[in-house]
Amino acid sequence: MSRSIRRIVILGSTGSIGRSTLEVVAASRDRLSVIGLTAHRSCQRLVDQARQFSPQWVVATDEQAAAEADWSGLPSETQLLVGLDGLRRVVSEAAVDIVVAAIVGSAGLTGAWHAVQNGKTLALANKETLVMAGPLVMAEAARCGATILPVDSEHSAVFQTLHAGRREDLKRVILTASGGPFRQYSQQQLEQVTVQEALNHPTWTMGPKITVDSATMMNKALEIIEARWLFGLEPDQIDVVIHPQSMIHSLVEFRDGSVVAQLSPPDMRLPIQYALTYPERMDGPATRFDWSRNFSWEIFPPDKTRFPALELGHEVARRGGTSGAVLNAANEAAVEAFLAGKIRFPDIVPACRSVLEHHHFDPSPSLDELWKLDAWARREIATWIGI
Ligand code: NDP
Ligand code: MG
Repeated sequence: MSRSIRRIVILGSTGSIGRSTLEVVAASRDRLSVIGLTAHRSCQRLVDQARQFSPQWVVATDEQAAAEADWSGLPSETQLLVGLDGLRRVVSEAAVDIVVAAIVGSAGLTGAWHAVQNGKTLALANKETLVMAGPLVMAEAARCGATILPVDSEHSAVFQTLHAGRREDLKRVILTASGGPFRQYSQQQLEQVTVQEALNHPTWTMGPKITVDSATMMNKALEIIEARWLFGLEPDQIDVVIHPQSMIHSLVEFRDGSVVAQLSPPDMRLPIQYALTYPERMDGPATRFDWSRNFSWEIFPPDKTRFPALELGHEVARRGGTSGAVLNAANEAAVEAFLAGKIRFPDIVPACRSVLEHHHFDPSPSLDELWKLDAWARREIATWIGI
């Protein structure tokens, strides 16, 4: 990386990852500069961020929220753009070096795709992009000369540890999972889980959708699929282990049996910073280990009966084609329904399986087809729930 300042656009700057990214930038203003920010509905927060970082552009993607917001506090040098056209415009600006994809759900695909098409470096938090359209996105990145760097902590860990050996000597990748808040719940206890309990993650503070995904372990299913496409792995090369302390972020095993892991306290600012400064490392705000303390870290295999999402992740990673987009959209709709009190916690994964099994599979779909299936899967979930 050159010594010059890297110019960054954050898609979804008002969310959990977006705000952590701004903390990283604030700590390294001599090396990192924010030139574009996007929010969906949190317009006041976007104005506050603009006052602190003076970007060239801010984008509010929800046109109604944008129309109702008070923009009088925006700095004079910041231009306001509205809607997806505004987002596309900012991503494609020649001045942009890195696009941080931190929008939640399939809504994140549009910006990520556009960044790739414009040959940008994509710091990818939005795992749904690869779950929906992994093969298309990776092929487009190769065609357009775009670089995709993972922000998801497990994938950042794999990316970092892969440097320890030759690619042809890689045996397997082992993704760690905290197991979420219900790791030790019986089937009967899982039936009684409330929204409040599901939103209370033991080791990470994140947006609501990924927090529920962590509780069902659908998050790990999505990460299996993400790893498959991002690193070009065979599905059977990807294992999952439970590691409740979230200190070991993932491991890779080489042909000779040597296992290399990446460790740090659970703090997303580290993988975010690594993606922004790669291949360099810098001092930063992320929490560090205190090596004068005692540590006790556990690793054990997941219970695939109580957490059936994991099996779905491997199935979809094996099948590819349209199945990722269908699983992803079904899960988003089911999680939304759970958060709205319309379905029970243990219904989320079976609802997804049912929609997946009923979809018309295509092994090599176009992006248009994937978007149609995204809408279809959401309607199917509504039918499944009876709303
Ligand atoms: P949050 O819910 O905290 O933030 C979501 C962001 O996306 C907000 O800026 C929100 O805007 C914006 N947004 C929501 N809907 C839309 C839409 N339809 N169009 C455009 N923008 C939209 O999510 P997280 O930060 O937790 O997660 C973001 C992504 O990063 C997810 O894909 C998640 O899986 C991934 N990730 C997150 C981790 C974490 O620690 N949080 C860890 C690893 C991956 P607004 O608030 O203005 O409405
Ligand atoms: Mg993760």
